[in-house]
Amino acid sequence: MEPTPLEPLPEDWERALCVVAHPDDLEFGAAAAIARWTGQGKHIVYCMVTSGEAGIDGIAPEECRPLREAEQIESARLVGVDEVEFLGFTDGIVEYGVPLRAAIAQVVRRHRPEIVITGNFRDTFGGRNLNQADHIAVGRAVLDAVRDAGNRWIFHDQLVDGLEPWGGVQAVWAANSPGAEHGVDTTDTFDAGVASLAAHAAYIEGLGWEGWDPEEFLEGFARPTGQRLGVAKAAPFEVFPMGWGD
Ligand SMILES: [Zn+2]
Repeated sequence: MEPTPLEPLPEDWERALCVVAHPDDLEFGAAAAIARWTGQGKHIVYCMVTSGEAGIDGIAPEECRPLREAEQIESARLVGVDEVEFLGFTDGIVEYGVPLRAAIAQVVRRHRPEIVITGNFRDTFGGRNLNQADHIAVGRAVLDAVRDAGNRWIFHDQLVDGLEPWGGVQAVWAANSPGAEHGVDTTDTFDAGVASLAAHAAYIEGLGWEGWDPEEFLEGFARPTGQRLGVAKAAPFEVFPMGWGD
C-alpha cells in the first residue's frame, strides 16, 4: 500500500507558540521542524503545562522538577528557542477544563503567535497503544484556549496592564498526529532535533531502555514521513484551521 502523501506546511509566518504537556514532548519529532523555522529567523516560544516531574520513576517530583526544567531549557536552546515557560500544572493528572484553558489563553495573549503548535492529542499515535491523558487534555485545551484568547469577554480579568485579546492565531498544528496530512522537511535540521532529544539525559536514563539511541529512534519516524513528503526526512503535523468556515 502506498503511503498517503503529505502537503508541506506554510512558512509565511513570523511567530509561533508551542504548548505541550511535558518537557520532551516536542523532542520526539517536532524539534527538528522548530530548528528549521528558527533557522529561517522565525520567533518561537515554548510553554510546558507541567514540568514533567512525575516522569522519572527513581526520582521524586520535588527533586525531579528542576532537573527536567533545566533539561528542557537546554533542549530548546539547541533548536534556537530561548524562551521556555512552565505553567506548573501537576504532571500526570492534568485535567481538561476552564483553569487549563485560562492559563493557556493568557500565554497566547502575551505572545500573540500566528501559529500554535501542540502535540498529538488523538486517542492513539496510529497503532494500538493509547495516548497519554495529559497529552489529550492539553491538546483539546489548546484548541479552545486559542479561541478564548481572541474573545475579550472570556477570561476578561486577564486584560490588565495592557494585555489585550489576541485573535491572530491562524492555525493549531499537532505534531505526530495519526491524522497528519502535512509535513515539514527536516532533512537539514534533523541533527539539531536529535541533540535536543539527547539533552533530556536524566529522563532518557530514567526510562531504562538499554541501548536506546535517540538518533536511530527519530530516524525511524523521520524517514517514512520524509517519503510521504518527497524528501529524505520530515516531521508530520495535523492542521486545525482557527478561522471560521474553512
Ligand atoms: Zn508527554
